[in-house]
Amino acid sequence: MLKPGSTIGILGGGQLARMLALAGARLGLKSHVFSPVDDDPAFDVCSAHTRADFLDEAALAAFAEAVDVVTYEFENVPARTAEVLEARRPVRPNPKVLALTQDRLVEKDFVQGLGIPTAGFADVLDAEGLARAVERLGRPSILKTRRFGYDGKGQTQIREGADLAEAFRSLGGVPCILESFVPFTKEVSVVAARGLDGEFRAYDVCENVHEHHILATTTAPAAIGPETAEAAVDVARRIAEAAEYVGVIAVEMFVVEDEGRETLVVNEIAPRVHNSGHWTVDGAVTSQFEQHMRAVAGMPLGSTRRHGQKVVMRNLIGADADKWANILAEDGACLHLYGKKETRAGRKMGHVTRVVSRD
Ligand code: AMP
Repeated sequence: MLKPGSTIGILGGGQLARMLALAGARLGLKSHVFSPVDDDPAFDVCSAHTRADFLDEAALAAFAEAVDVVTYEFENVPARTAEVLEARRPVRPNPKVLALTQDRLVEKDFVQGLGIPTAGFADVLDAEGLARAVERLGRPSILKTRRFGYDGKGQTQIREGADLAEAFRSLGGVPCILESFVPFTKEVSVVAARGLDGEFRAYDVCENVHEHHILATTTAPAAIGPETAEAAVDVARRIAEAAEYVGVIAVEMFVVEDEGRETLVVNEIAPRVHNSGHWTVDGAVTSQFEQHMRAVAGMPLGSTRRHGQKVVMRNLIGADADKWANILAEDGACLHLYGKKETRAGRKMGHVTRVVSRD
């Protein structure tokens, strides 16, 4: 177990790294952030930072020397980066998890291999392969690049009459998967942590609403039945155990309702703290960020108990964050700004959390 005063190395310097560093500081942990981007949000709040390319092996070696354990805020850490670091320091969650979550095909095979339902899917390598996949999975269906998709980027719906060759080309002609369309009624996620000793703790299952493919709000708890909530947590537990996971993990799922019965379909695994867990900073005893720092440091996990009857987190996208003064003036609104220098449409600039009490 690392002690307060130890240094956690974080790959990536965005808002997730920033909130990890802030949470670590509360426990007396130092953070050293490694990012190739100038002026990244986490640089403002960490004890040290390295601005270098993820494939700069000399910089990676020096970074490893300066830290006690390495973690990451994003799943697209290059395999070579993880390999160089792993030779020198523990990397948590273990880099096998990166290989699993960087490729939608590998991820779906892994989840289905555990006996957990996903959308139907097919590997698509070219336009002819897409035609065969559409034949099998029908329309509408969703074509997604296997790698590097986020916030709805790298995917397109295949509707009736869609030109398949054009759809494949529009995603860059790269390897894709086609997914059958899941007629979901809700999108939920389980944010949970697994400790170094294998202890597993989940937060309340939360419900996510997207606008323009970007998370708009998260509400905890999700308005689903208690058995569905229990089943969702069990899915996350099985995934975390099978991956020998250490740290915070998020599993996004669709809820499908059929004659009043709710079933779950796994959409995506994020091997990191997640936007749908931001509500825990103000709305739970231990935030997801503190929980992750505890887990990767080998410390005991904290309570995941929710405050209040309900917690609602709203993302501040682009110009939404310009209303910061109004939000600050609102009783009970907890404002978080990420310190990004430039406001851009579609960019996550901050979030606001409201804890609704019982009275
Ligand atoms: P993803 O990038 O995989 O998280 O997908 C982004 C969003 O697209 C999801 O949050 C859903 O709203 C929608 N979506 C993705 N996959 C499917 C699917 N197989 N069926 C229905 N909707 C989907």
